Amino acid sequence: MIGRLSGIVSQKAPSLRYRLSLMMKPQVVFVLGGPGAGKGTQCSRIVEHYDYTHLSAGDLLREEQAREGSEYGKLIAGCIKEGSIVPVHITIKLLWKAMEETMKKDERKFHFLIDGFPRNEDNLQGWNSTMDEKALVKFVLFFDCNREVCIERCLERGKSSGRTDDNRDSLEKRIKTYLKSTRPIIELYEKLGKVHSVDASLGVEEVFTKVKAIFDKEG
Ligand code: UDP
Ligand code: MG
Repeated sequence: MIGRLSGIVSQKAPSLRYRLSLMMKPQVVFVLGGPGAGKGTQCSRIVEHYDYTHLSAGDLLREEQAREGSEYGKLIAGCIKEGSIVPVHITIKLLWKAMEETMKKDERKFHFLIDGFPRNEDNLQGWNSTMDEKALVKFVLFFDCNREVCIERCLERGKSSGRTDDNRDSLEKRIKTYLKSTRPIIELYEKLGKVHSVDASLGVEEVFTKVKAIFDKEG
């Protein structure tokens, strides 16, 4: 019997490294806040100091929109300009692909900052049903910034960003979506005791000092 099976079952014990990599569930920090709250800027700083990979849902969607032959290009472009939210299966597909590619290149890179997601109930439900088993959400980093500062920053960024949504018209819509759809998601995580808030209306360095205190503690 054993002799027969030995032909089809590998006799080689899997390496410790391989077994560990299977156990390494990706660990995720959701980074949320209004448009212009500084999510992208602060994520870049975090990556310089801590072993995290920054994945911006918005950037991934813009890349997908620009990809030749993308079946979602038009849909994404419309949502972005209107400040509405892309169906979650598209966003999750892009996020998971980016996570897998990162971990395939280096199995030690399993810490992710997911910037600008989940933005509404559809996003959260989609995440819970497809990603809950695959990844662990450590906490939500919330950049709390008032409307005036957010608008001013986005309009300033709009002078050079080339983004189709950094104009007053799109911004009004994005802020509406943020208040109506994203804030309740942050509140939900708050109830679970999973939110770390930072006053994001201060300068980049001051905000980062506070962010650092959180990552030094929570890693
Ligand atoms: N977006 C989306 N789902 C996401 C992230 C972004 O539909 O999970 C779309 C949405 O239309 C949003 C736009 O992409 O208004 C820009 O998002 P981004 O995160 O780049 O904007 P930011 O919050 O950084 O200003
Ligand atoms: Mg951003």
